[in-house]
Amino acid sequence: MSITIDEHSGFCFGVTSAINKAEEELAKGPLYCLGDIVHNGQEVDRLERLGLTTIDYDDLRTLHGGRVLLRAHGEPPSTYAIARANNIEVIDASCPVVLHLQKRIRDTYLAHPEAQIVIFGKVGHAEVIGLMGQTNNNAIIVESEADLSKIDFTRDIYLFSQTTMSVEAFEALVENIKNKISYSPQDGPTAEGGRTAPAVVQAKPVFEYYNSICRNVANRVAQLQAFARAHDLVIFVGGSKSSNAKVLYNHCLAANPNTIFISSPDELDEHTASRSTDLSVGICGATSTPHWLMEAVKEKISNLKCQI
Ligand code: SF4
Repeated sequence: MSITIDEHSGFCFGVTSAINKAEEELAKGPLYCLGDIVHNGQEVDRLERLGLTTIDYDDLRTLHGGRVLLRAHGEPPSTYAIARANNIEVIDASCPVVLHLQKRIRDTYLAHPEAQIVIFGKVGHAEVIGLMGQTNNNAIIVESEADLSKIDFTRDIYLFSQTTMSVEAFEALVENIKNKISYSPQDGPTAEGGRTAPAVVQAKPVFEYYNSICRNVANRVAQLQAFARAHDLVIFVGGSKSSNAKVLYNHCLAANPNTIFISSPDELDEHTASRSTDLSVGICGATSTPHWLMEAVKEKISNLKCQI
C-alpha cells in the first residue's frame, strides 16, 4: 500500500500570506482576528494557542484600541469605518485578488448606478459580505438557479463571482442569463389575442460578466481530479465551513467515487483503514487545508493499518 499527499493541495498564496502576517504580528504582541483566519478549525486552534483572539462584528463594535487582523476574504468599507471610529489599528491581510475584485465591483457600481450588479456566491460568506459592501449592499446575490427570479432581465446586468465558486457553475449561469435576456419582452413582436402586436423598438439590456474565480482554485480542479483518478482511495481533508473545500471535494468525488471527506485525523477509524488495504491512498485538501494536517492524516492512517 502507498500513501501519497497531493503536492498541489494546501494553502493558496492569499491564505499563506495572511497566516504569515498573523505569526509576524503575534510576535509583537496581542492580536485580534475578525472571523476565523482560515476555514479550518485545526489551524485556527494552532494560531489561538500562539495568542490570536478571534472576534466577531459585535466584538469589533465594542472594541476600543488594539490591533485587528483582517483575513484574506476581505472586508466591506463599514469594517474600516468602525476601526477608524474605535481607534483600532488594522492589520490588513486581505488577499490582493479579492481587493482587485472589490475595486472592480465598486467601480462598476459607481459607473452604472442604474444597472444591477449580480454576485454569484454564497449568502453570508465573508468574501461576499465584503463584495456586497462595495455596492452599499445593493448587489443581488445569486447562489443557485432559484435566485434568478431576483433579476430583472429587461435591465442592464453586470455579473461577478465570489473567487471560490466553480467555473462550470459560473459558465452555466452566464448561459442561463443570456437565454433569459433573449426571451424577455423587448424582443417583440408579441402575440396578443391571436394577433401579432407591433414590435416595441427597445435596446437590449447590457449583459457583461467577469469571471472573477481565482486561478488558484480554477487550476486546482484539473490537478486534483488527475490526482484522484490516480489513487484507489482518496481522503479529502477540509474544514466543514469552507466553501472551497466543498467545491473541490465534489470535483474529487466526480473523478473518483471512492473519495471520503474528513476534517480531522480523529474521523479516521479502522473501517477506513481496512478499506485502504493493498490500495494506493491519496490525501488531498482545499486551499484552506494546512499541510501539517494532511501529514497528520497520513500518520494516522499508517498507524491504523499497523493495528489491523
Ligand atoms: S483562493 Fe485565491 S482569492 Fe481566495 S485567498 Fe486564495 S489566492 Fe486569494
